[in-house]
Amino acid sequence: MTFILGLTGGIGSGKSAASAWFESQNITVVDADIVAREVVAPGHGALLDIQRAFGDWVLLDNGELNRPALREHIFKSPEARKILEQITHPAIRQSIIQQLQHASSPYVILVSPLLFETNQHELTHHTLLIDASESLQIQRASQRDGQSVEQIQNIIQIQMSRTDKRALADDIVVNDGHLDHLYQQLTVLHQQYLKRAEKKQS
Ligand code: ADP
Repeated sequence: MTFILGLTGGIGSGKSAASAWFESQNITVVDADIVAREVVAPGHGALLDIQRAFGDWVLLDNGELNRPALREHIFKSPEARKILEQITHPAIRQSIIQQLQHASSPYVILVSPLLFETNQHELTHHTLLIDASESLQIQRASQRDGQSVEQIQNIIQIQMSRTDKRALADDIVVNDGHLDHLYQQLTVLHQQYLKRAEKKQS
């Protein structure tokens, strides 16, 4: 099996910037956020299961998931959230495994904001944390998508603390300078990962 690197970091830490750099080095990146949307697209089993569990109101007229309505529903009901997660989490995991297995690059990356929180790190051989101070996280995330400082702080609250993630990660890149500084650190790690991947194959 190919060497699998788990890549994570809090909101605005620079995960996507790091993923894009690895992709520029021809490393396949499987994005858990994208998979999470794919498994509830029309025609996928998980969407049918959600419809069966909650009723037809979860679908829009075009057959797509009514995300705002479902979000509101699970916000009010922890029980409903549990049911939803029991449907989506295994579907996401299964699809991630399939996509990781189909990758043909020297090694493959699973990028996930909740790599440790959802135990997705169990699917990887090694983990890399992109870390930045909370003030940088807030500054970057608010500039990126115009979310309010409060919204970003709420998301940071829900995510595992930086301290806990630092304790769990095998490698840590501190993304507190220019993007070039980030890429320099990734270049060094990329060489190490290529070696690990080669060793694993032989
Ligand atoms: P994440 O995917 O972890 O939420 P992103 O990679 O999208 O974070 O980074 C958040 C924003 O900050 C993006 O607009 C990105 O281009 C920018 N960014 C990331 N790292 C740096 C950096 N070192 N210097 C300047 N801007 C950065």
